[in-house]
Amino acid sequence: MRKLVFATGNANKLREIKAILADMDVEVLSMKEAGVDVDIVEDGKTFEENALIKARAVAQASGELALADDSGLEVDALGGEPGIYSARYMGEDTSYDIKNMNIIERLEGVPDEKRTARFVCAMAAVFPDGTEKTFVRNMEGRIGYKIAGENGFGYDPIFMLPQYGKTSAEISPEEKNAISHRGQALRAMEEYLRERFS
Ligand code: IMP
Repeated sequence: MRKLVFATGNANKLREIKAILADMDVEVLSMKEAGVDVDIVEDGKTFEENALIKARAVAQASGELALADDSGLEVDALGGEPGIYSARYMGEDTSYDIKNMNIIERLEGVPDEKRTARFVCAMAAVFPDGTEKTFVRNMEGRIGYKIAGENGFGYDPIFMLPQYGKTSAEISPEEKNAISHRGQALRAMEEYLRERFS
């Protein structure tokens, strides 16, 4: 059976990709399961570069097909911040209540139509023969005026989805998966892998 190593230490992401690829003839392994222990410096300038850096490192270390993603929030009124620094914004250990309140405060006085933002996800695959493939997908929304919702994670409680009139933390995980940047990028990759493997 073909093997695929997913370059993440995040158990939720791993579960998500295992579920999506469940009926494909491929065994999805975590880095730990594949015995890969590499220190990866994510010093790319874009989500796509960072996803490729991770996937390349894991493909090289494992000799198997490697997948990696990189994602974040871009706020237009903040010139695209926090962008590729989304996880590190105000410090990796700072709570998202504080990060989210800070973004709301920085947008004080900014009218609705200028509060546009998007979640971006880049999904990269690197094959043992060196072939590379990436997909980048967005979920568009607006920064709200308060924190709302218990679902999701990170910046979801301030990310208003116009089509729902709710934040991405107020819709169900299934609803979010169907429209999210990560869901879209993962499904695009799934389709590509199915074609390549058929
Ligand atoms: P990474 O892709 O695991 O490096 O995550 C990047 C960061 O972007 C996360 O730690 C969150 O701060 C933010 N982020 C990415 N996707 C989402 C999402 O779906 N909801 C909320 N925050 C997100």
